Amino acid sequence: MVPQMLGGFYKPGEARIDLRKFCKLTGVTFRQERVIKISGDKRTLNTDQSETEFDYLIINTGVVSENPFGSHDHVFPVKPLSNLFRFEENLSKGLYRNIVIAGAGGAGTEIALNLSVRPTKPQINITVVEKSDSILNGFDPRLSAKLRSVLEQRDVRVLCGDEIKEVQENTIKTQNGNELPFDACLLATGNKAVTSGIDHDLPESEIGRILVNKNLETTPHSGIFAAGDTAEIRKLGLPQIGVHAVYQGKQLRKNLDRIFQGLEPEPYVPFKFTPLIFSTGSSQSSLAIPGYPFSVTNRFMTALKYTLDQEWVESCQVERASHRNYMRLFLDGWRFMREIKTTKSAL
Ligand SMILES: Cc1cc2nc3c(=O)[nH]c(=O)nc-3n(C[C@H](O)[C@H](O)[C@H](O)COP(=O)(O)OP(=O)(O)OC[C@H]3O[C@@H](n4cnc5c(N)ncnc54)[C@H](O)[C@@H]3O)c2cc1C
Repeated sequence: MVPQMLGGFYKPGEARIDLRKFCKLTGVTFRQERVIKISGDKRTLNTDQSETEFDYLIINTGVVSENPFGSHDHVFPVKPLSNLFRFEENLSKGLYRNIVIAGAGGAGTEIALNLSVRPTKPQINITVVEKSDSILNGFDPRLSAKLRSVLEQRDVRVLCGDEIKEVQENTIKTQNGNELPFDACLLATGNKAVTSGIDHDLPESEIGRILVNKNLETTPHSGIFAAGDTAEIRKLGLPQIGVHAVYQGKQLRKNLDRIFQGLEPEPYVPFKFTPLIFSTGSSQSSLAIPGYPFSVTNRFMTALKYTLDQEWVESCQVERASHRNYMRLFLDGWRFMREIKTTKSAL
């Protein structure tokens, strides 16, 4: 939803979840603090403000985008997503004319496709810089070629086989010698687990993700769980996508209930295929499966994406009695799709 928010299809408030409200709705205590230390041995957790003892702990701190360029007011790593809301605020004030997107994997490509149709004044110039030979590397090559051509028809400059070397005040220099004027740069070139920056004594992978077993539990510390982007289930090598984060959360909830009833926890069984739906900024969206030469692009996918996104958002925002059912969501999704009008190149 965040790329679509950047395209102007959602208002920022529609693509965020009010955590305070959500916690109130579900009877959970919310404390806005940053976790800085976890001791599995002592079973304590320290934040920037307090220390808490725990019996059970679930770690879901996600990832942050790699940023080798240091802090710069107008360089926005795409993770955490809150950076993209800051970027949008400046964009809607008309502060940016030249935007560089580093990295054209799923996140960078979807953002570029949506930004390229955003009605802005002044009009924005977008450049995408991607290290591999193609955008959406690892997805269906036909989709990758199709979406690259759509971007170029929308006047987005796509530089493949190149990478950012240096970020100066108003210019970005690339490995191949390109000098790109920029007012804002979005970094979507890869992530590292937030836990790699937290002082802890839990087992971790080479890239700092918390290693867990199939029940999402760390060993030897029982009762400490990790899920989502920050967790790595031994030997499974799952991609860092929201689908796993959401379903692992559901499994953990179920397992905690089982543990409290004296039952054994059950393993997280990932879906065999985890399709992703990319919004293209037109009324058509593309469904693709990472690692498979398969994709489908049509208007039905836009309504389906709306249905799945809204179903999840509603489950965090409003009481169950007010949830729209799937039929209603899909009809609203179809209406949403029909309202997408763009003068720029469609598919
Ligand atoms: C542009 C973009 C588009 C995407 N689109 C899709 C998609 O269409 N489908 C899909 O499946 N996936 C998508 N993803 C991936 C998806 O966003 C992630 O896989 C998902 O958010 C992971 O959920 P999580 O709960 O593990 O982490 P997050 O959603 O990153 O949540 C982590 C939370 O922990 C908080 N936190 C971080 N550090 C600390 C700390 N020290 N103490 C306390 N709190 C902390 C953060 O503020 C954040 O709220 C997309 C990603 C991007 C960047």
